Amino acid sequence: MKSSIRQKRMFYLKYTQLIVLAILLTFAFSSGLFAKSTKGANAKSEWFKVAKNTYVFRYQFYFTLFVSTEKGIIAFDPLSNKAAEWYVKAIREAVPNAKLKAIVYTHWHTDHATGANVLRREFGKDIPIIAHEKTYKKLKKSGNRDVPLPTKKVSNAGLVLNDSKTPIELKYLGYAHTSSMLIAYLPKQKLVFAVDFVNHDSMGWRDLPGVDIDDLISMQKKVMALDFTTIAFGHGRPGNKEVVARQISYYQTLLREAKKALGRKLSEDQSVKSITMNKYKNWQNYDNWFKLNVRGAYRFEKEKLDKSAQ
Ligand SMILES: [Zn+2]
Repeated sequence: MKSSIRQKRMFYLKYTQLIVLAILLTFAFSSGLFAKSTKGANAKSEWFKVAKNTYVFRYQFYFTLFVSTEKGIIAFDPLSNKAAEWYVKAIREAVPNAKLKAIVYTHWHTDHATGANVLRREFGKDIPIIAHEKTYKKLKKSGNRDVPLPTKKVSNAGLVLNDSKTPIELKYLGYAHTSSMLIAYLPKQKLVFAVDFVNHDSMGWRDLPGVDIDDLISMQKKVMALDFTTIAFGHGRPGNKEVVARQISYYQTLLREAKKALGRKLSEDQSVKSITMNKYKNWQNYDNWFKLNVRGAYRFEKEKLDKSAQ
């Protein structure tokens, strides 16, 4: 008798465990913890839901965002012609019978902006392309046929794509990574999409060519000031406010260390040897780019110092 009660108990215990496991798995899948690969895809490409009506698409180490609104899909940076073929599949899998309402270029860099021809071929040749007016200028000058020109230009004042279900605010926050950068803010989803000037636990690109690091930090702080819980990036998986805070303190520390080195009259090469910032050793590209980041920060602070001495 006792043993049969025990058996029954064991059975219920296992049964409950299974139910809990099923609930956890359902939650994990629906919350996008497990990414769903595009059909037939290899590790090259995937898409997953990041918030209500909002999806991240990845191709190699590039990420972009598409949003399902009442008026159709708003698709950001198509990345490249090859990536855009997978992007089309991802959009159709995530939102069956999807209509594309508009494409948005976050900035003029062609490693993010290329691919709209493929989206237009699949969804309609007249689909509008929205971008900052300086993106338009730059692309017009370059005449790259793989990057069709924006049809709607946005000034520094930004633009709100109005949709009662999913409003999307395109904002201009500064010129640290080209003077053409728009970020997307989705107040209902409390989500930000920001490309290149802020990334997920990653070094800056090489020796930070042309980057005004003070303005970079100020742009990152402007992102931080928005009311959001999730941030999707052009590089790296989505994160939260902590991720942005970590980027800010990385660049602040980098500048502080460069200033200290200058104060000690160290040369650029000596600074590279003496500055390590071990806290960031696990970040992406630390081995390849950290020393270069130090060089960039050193030159940036030195230029300021030289200017102020004039
Ligand atoms: Zn860029």
